[in-house]
Amino acid sequence: MKVGLDFRIMLLKVKGKAVSIDETIVGKVTRDPNNFEKDYILISNNSSDFNSNRFKSILTELKIEDSSSYYSNIIHSIPTLEYISEGDIVAVNCDGVINTLYRIDSYQNSILATERCNSNCLMCSQPPKDRDDVEYLFNVYKQMIPLVPKD
Ligand code: SF4
Repeated sequence: MKVGLDFRIMLLKVKGKAVSIDETIVGKVTRDPNNFEKDYILISNNSSDFNSNRFKSILTELKIEDSSSYYSNIIHSIPTLEYISEGDIVAVNCDGVINTLYRIDSYQNSILATERCNSNCLMCSQPPKDRDDVEYLFNVYKQMIPLVPKD
């Protein structure tokens, strides 16, 4: 029997190039272009999917040279999307950053009301940041919480 530890890095954030994203978009991720449910964000490396306006946003690893012919709310040139599972909930930001908010396969999802903690614990794995993030995070979680599975 082989015994070992899984040291895969848990990615929670990647950055691509945003096309016409005016405000943070929160949605559930799918790789099924025929998904007709609302509140979904499509991951696709097939450019024929990019004109679909059924999805809140489209994420792709492909590089788009001329984005003017495509529907808005696309992030392209993303280094990898493999780590995102079907049903994960992500925030798609105007600057091209994609944050994973909820991982469907994890028992350790949590919500940070703010990162402006003033405790400065030595062992902190999430060092406090001195920036006013309350409004941004409230807006994001207000959209995320209704999408989290009830169980
Ligand atoms: S562990 Fe980090 S986030 Fe938690 S109370 Fe300490 S400094 Fe704040």
